[in-house]
Amino acid sequence: MFSLLRHAGSILWKRSPIQLTFFVTRNCNARCPYCFYLQSADHPKDDTEELSLDEIGKISRSLGRLLWLAFSGGEAFLRKDLVEISKIFYAQNQPVIMLYSTNGLAAELIRDCTEKILKHCPESVVAVKLSLDGLDSAHDELRQTPGGFSKMMHSYRLLGELLEHYPNFELGINTVFSSGNQDHMDEIIDFVQGLDRVKTHTISLVRGNLDHAHFKDVDYRKYRRAIERLEKNLKDKTSGIYRFKGARLKAAQDILQRRMIYRTALEQTRVTPCYAGRLNLVLTETGGVYPCETLTEGFGNVRDFDYDLRRVMRDKPAQAVMRSIQDRRCHCTHECYLMTNILFDPRRYPALIKEYLQL
Ligand code: SF4
Repeated sequence: MFSLLRHAGSILWKRSPIQLTFFVTRNCNARCPYCFYLQSADHPKDDTEELSLDEIGKISRSLGRLLWLAFSGGEAFLRKDLVEISKIFYAQNQPVIMLYSTNGLAAELIRDCTEKILKHCPESVVAVKLSLDGLDSAHDELRQTPGGFSKMMHSYRLLGELLEHYPNFELGINTVFSSGNQDHMDEIIDFVQGLDRVKTHTISLVRGNLDHAHFKDVDYRKYRRAIERLEKNLKDKTSGIYRFKGARLKAAQDILQRRMIYRTALEQTRVTPCYAGRLNLVLTETGGVYPCETLTEGFGNVRDFDYDLRRVMRDKPAQAVMRSIQDRRCHCTHECYLMTNILFDPRRYPALIKEYLQL
């Protein structure tokens, strides 16, 4: 498997991106009212074509090796050439982890694509995260997708069969924590705990400039209760943690990350330096480049820079945005960026080691 250790240099030098989030398509077969990408005025649709495979190949060539490559959308599995896209990044960037978030509505398609990706990318951990925001009709109502829960569970069963055949496969569940389900988190956590094919349950605090802003009326005490339950489950030896090498470190980081999210939300301020734009990049389906998924100030469009992401990052607008990030002019609770901010900041290591030793 590709090793985490080859990214150790980024602890000292934050010179090149090691985490890329790629929104491969805006197409989606759901219409979740709290989707921060499709429903938000911060991410208006532009009418240009999605990046082609040829364009994606050039973009990937401009990057070095990646630690973490996350495919998002829309519904990423609706992009017909998702397997080919994965193969390009695998060949050129050797990502340690390739993550696919999905609503789980198209079970057969998701299973077939995942199996092809697993076959073609044996040295990467391939993680599929199914979204589950409530049980049965509560899930369907929250996501406005009739029958969505049973389709997602069908995906869970089909994907679960792959675990026996592919040791590089991780199957997880993600729950968007919002005012719409904060009173049902105990039953959701218990349910996921009972799914024998799932090792990890993550929760994402609802975010973004939403049209349906009431979903952000979160009681943070309820969020804290939920993360304490997840922490207990991680520390419970019978529940287990991820299967991949380095899983214990990831679990320790998850625990710290959730506590920092709680503090950020409560204090409404950034609690740690942020490496977005230096270690993390976001690429949209039409070539827009951003330091993170929250900021609306972009770096430019990679199509205007001959598909060279490093050139985009060196340009003046990108440098100005990066300076503003270093000056702490923004804060957020985004899980992915806190992950990098913890793993690549030696000041976090005493706390990280303490959690690690308790797992
Ligand atoms: S703190 Fe959040 S909003 Fe600000 S740059 Fe980092 S990830 Fe983006």
